[in-house]
Amino acid sequence: MDTKIKQWLDALTLEEKASICSGFDLWQTEPVERLDIPQVMMTDGPHGLRKMVLDPETGQFSGAVPATCFPSGVGLASTWNRDLMETVGRTIAQEALAENVSVVLGPGANIKRSPLCGRNFEYFSEDPLVSSQMAKHHILGVQGEGVGASLKHFVANNQEYMRMCVDTLVDERTLREIYYASFEAAVKEAQPWTIMCAYNQLNGEFCADSKDLLTGVLRDQWGFKGLVVSDWGAEDDRVLGIQAGLDLEMPGNNGRNDQYIIDSVNIGRLSMGDLDAVVGRVLTLAVNGVAGLKDVEVDLDAHHQVARKVAQESMVLLKNDNQVLPLGKEDRVLVVGELATRPRFQGGGSSHIHPTQVDIPLEAMEALGSVTFAQGYELDGDEVNKGLHGEALSQAQNADTVVVFAGLPDRYESEGYDRTHLRIPGNQQALIEALGQAHDRVVVVLSNGAPIEMPWLGQVAGVLEGYLGGQAGGSAVADLLYGHVSPSGKLAETFPVRLQDTPCYINFPGKGGVVAYQEGVFVGYRYYEAKDMDVLFPFGHGLSYTTFAYGPLKLSADAIEDIDILQVQVDVTNTGDRPGQEVVQLYVEERKTAVLRPMKELKAFDKIALEPGETKTVTLALDKRAFAYYKLDIGDWYVNSGTFALHVGSSSQDIRQVAEVNVASTVDIPMVYHRNSTLETVAKHPVGQEMVKQMVDKMAQLFSGLGDMGMEDMELHFMTSPIRNLVSFGVMDDVALNDLIGRLNGEAL
Ligand code: BGC
Repeated sequence: MDTKIKQWLDALTLEEKASICSGFDLWQTEPVERLDIPQVMMTDGPHGLRKMVLDPETGQFSGAVPATCFPSGVGLASTWNRDLMETVGRTIAQEALAENVSVVLGPGANIKRSPLCGRNFEYFSEDPLVSSQMAKHHILGVQGEGVGASLKHFVANNQEYMRMCVDTLVDERTLREIYYASFEAAVKEAQPWTIMCAYNQLNGEFCADSKDLLTGVLRDQWGFKGLVVSDWGAEDDRVLGIQAGLDLEMPGNNGRNDQYIIDSVNIGRLSMGDLDAVVGRVLTLAVNGVAGLKDVEVDLDAHHQVARKVAQESMVLLKNDNQVLPLGKEDRVLVVGELATRPRFQGGGSSHIHPTQVDIPLEAMEALGSVTFAQGYELDGDEVNKGLHGEALSQAQNADTVVVFAGLPDRYESEGYDRTHLRIPGNQQALIEALGQAHDRVVVVLSNGAPIEMPWLGQVAGVLEGYLGGQAGGSAVADLLYGHVSPSGKLAETFPVRLQDTPCYINFPGKGGVVAYQEGVFVGYRYYEAKDMDVLFPFGHGLSYTTFAYGPLKLSADAIEDIDILQVQVDVTNTGDRPGQEVVQLYVEERKTAVLRPMKELKAFDKIALEPGETKTVTLALDKRAFAYYKLDIGDWYVNSGTFALHVGSSSQDIRQVAEVNVASTVDIPMVYHRNSTLETVAKHPVGQEMVKQMVDKMAQLFSGLGDMGMEDMELHFMTSPIRNLVSFGVMDDVALNDLIGRLNGEAL
């Protein structure tokens, strides 16, 4: 521990230490003037700084200072662009420095378990690799500027319904492979200054009280060095929290828990060691926070251009039949929909920021082409306005192409509640359907934070998923529609055909305050692929105005044993006539696995930019973990020996090249045999082979003539029976069975 921190700990009174365990107010830590212990400020900001303003008259925080609004998490993830994430992080950090903010609360790395979660717009993905990579690079960007990030909300906070107390029941393997994994690389490889502990309970214990989680997993297993802050109001029992490793309770609440902490130390319930550990970490944050502050000049216009570039990459071209897009400069384009003039570019709740400026899609399109406008529907209502509806239809007759701006209004999705369906408002749907029937060149541009259903998909020629594109989303849409930039976003989530298809349909958001994650590791595409289900748009999907060809895969080895990294190389060529970017995705499948596993899982990706005709070699690296699953009986990651297929492609369903690699496990787990080991297992052991043969013959005799069971079925049945049946069916007695088990286990008898 730093000497200065040690000296402070020696000098602080118990009362002062207790007060440091919670904030000074909504956004700042507690200073101690007597010892010159500074105060630092943290503010929200997954997609832009939200520094609230203190009204000196009322003493209340309200409003927020203007800040650059980037696309929200869902859009950031759809860029699949690590460098861009770092740029976003750096830009937000510069604006934080200009406002004397030391910690920016974000990014959010919770998994999108259901498309209904009201906060999905703030989160990255249904896949832990995309999520943890985006989070990692966001953090690296922010912290590279000397500002702290806060990775949130740890963990299994995947719904808004009863978010402050719901008990999420998740099995250990699912936690390791999906929900922890979504944070893990970001913690290990980016070391966020802080991690925000989630509101909910996990398997019967509040995350805020859980030592297994906040100390065991985070610090002991992952090596986290920073501070754990409660989500605002997440602390349950402050003393349990301190013992668990919850360092800072936020927001400050006039020392509500101070006396409780003091009394607990005085009666010996809380040790000074545990208290000093958390106080020490708050002091370290204060020191680092102040050290990072510096005067910076921010160029908000330049930041707006960064937001525009990010927005261009965040939007996903879902459908483009007959190359309806890009629009030509001379085309007569009818723009329909109030969302074109009143864009929805960010989500509601704690991430809602005050943008420095907002680009209006209609104006941006007018600057690039020949455009007329019809409002079409009222954004604030769900009912069809016959006048507006009819006017749009009649104007469509004179247009070459109709571009409808549609999506979810603010009231449909926000922090604080979940959606209950995947529909857009009825008036928007009716308009798209009517235009789709009347015109064969209809393009829908969507503004929404999470998947919607599209019963009208077959009636329109194009769909551009704009998500919540931030303050420059309006110009980015125009840039993409007119082909000034080719779309390069890819879905970081699956669009299901209907809500009933989703993996946790039956168990979301739970009942009686409990939600069981019974779908296990089968989240998102892992589920749809296992069930071979049709989806509207698969994970990883996104079209471009150009085309890409994939060459054969080159592996650094075709068998792995003791090799730390397997390199997979593929040449990708831009075979079209426009510059473009491609996201090369690598999925790993264990062939013929004896363990229940998803069909394939994303284990590496890279985004590259290619000029027409240009070829680049993409190198993707797989470590052992890329082949592993979490094996419960050893409490660790484990790779089965066997053949693995490497699928490389442009989406989870558009696989262009496949190669195989043989993997030999380097961890030897001795088999332990017992009375309930199956004959199949025992038959693989030299000692067991003969016994099993005798057993099968005996069983065949006993059962022959009993019904229609063929020999093959019968053998399968026998082979999956326990060896104690050797006694039941008279092949041997108990003494001989125990002797056999002993010999199978290699015991000297
Ligand atoms: C949210 C956090 C946010 C905090 C402070 C909470 O309600 O869950 O994401 O950072 O408030 O605004």
